[in-house]
Amino acid sequence: MQYVNSLLDLIGNTPLLRLSRALITPEEPTFDPATAPMVLAKVEYLNPGGSVKDRIATRMIEAAEASGELQPGGTIVEPTSGNTGVGLAMVAQAKGYKCVFVCPDKVSEDKRNVLKAYGAEVVVCPTAVAPEHPDSYYNVSDRLSSQPGAWKPDQYSNPNNPRSHYETTGPEIWAQTEGKITHFVCGVGTGGTISGIGRYLKEQNPDVQVIGADPAGSVYSGGSGRPYLVEGVGEDFWPDCYDRTVADRIIEVSDADSFHYTRRLAREEALLVGGSSGMAAYAAMQLAHELAGTPEGENAVIVVLLPDSGRGYLTKVFNDEWLGQYGFLAARDSQTVGEVLR
Ligand code: PMP
Repeated sequence: MQYVNSLLDLIGNTPLLRLSRALITPEEPTFDPATAPMVLAKVEYLNPGGSVKDRIATRMIEAAEASGELQPGGTIVEPTSGNTGVGLAMVAQAKGYKCVFVCPDKVSEDKRNVLKAYGAEVVVCPTAVAPEHPDSYYNVSDRLSSQPGAWKPDQYSNPNNPRSHYETTGPEIWAQTEGKITHFVCGVGTGGTISGIGRYLKEQNPDVQVIGADPAGSVYSGGSGRPYLVEGVGEDFWPDCYDRTVADRIIEVSDADSFHYTRRLAREEALLVGGSSGMAAYAAMQLAHELAGTPEGENAVIVVLLPDSGRGYLTKVFNDEWLGQYGFLAARDSQTVGEVLR
């Protein structure tokens, strides 16, 4: 019989999927995609919690158990509303811990309900109060995490976040490409993914190029932290988990391009992924376009990491009204069957 005893045994070992060369700027009539390098997607929504964050949740919890910071029956408290929450809730359930997530009231009810469905408690804080107010997001999470038995993973500064990628995702990519990877592309949020994978790959081969994709406005690409719409990536501060020495280059991607590529991945590759995946894919395709036809491009193998599924964004990226209200709904994003066939 083939089975696993725990859902946690299904974390990692995600596949690499070759993306179509047709994704590389076909708008340009003179461009010949046949000369373009291979682009492989690391499909992280196939983790059991639906995102790359299952990896860091496992590693952060196991390390806290080992150090004694997290005791049997303890409570995990983290300010998160997204994928990290799901990963933590899943691992906590398997190991008998309680979870309390603190999130601002702007977080959609759907996201809160996902966390509750896993058995976590969700504490919602008003956005319209100053950070020093006792009900603010920051103060509530600090107060809860200082209770006896509580432990706060803090994905932004926890070294086990990048370490999980150094120990699992990086070696998987190296083995799956038989060491032929030449470029690695991913989005940057906490910086854990790029720092852990980037460091591992460069230790195997210092010539591997590590490229961060970043929403226009975020600090990694030189922005001031001004708002953007793509979720899970970009920051308005420099987290401890981000190793500033690892990226060879940061490619800035607009919301419009991120969402356009998110839709293309669903429509052309049947990959229903989130906006940060579209952003990373856009950067990878830009890179492939630059390398096409060059000597460096001939044997280039670009790996791009796609962090999560598009299911969590059906009312946003995949909703024409939502996309349209920001002026991002180009004709190319909303073609009907009739228009495509014409
Ligand atoms: N995409 C999504 C959807 C995410 O939730 C995150 C994590 N914030 C990232 C990308 C970026 O990964 P990292 O935090 O490891 O930089």
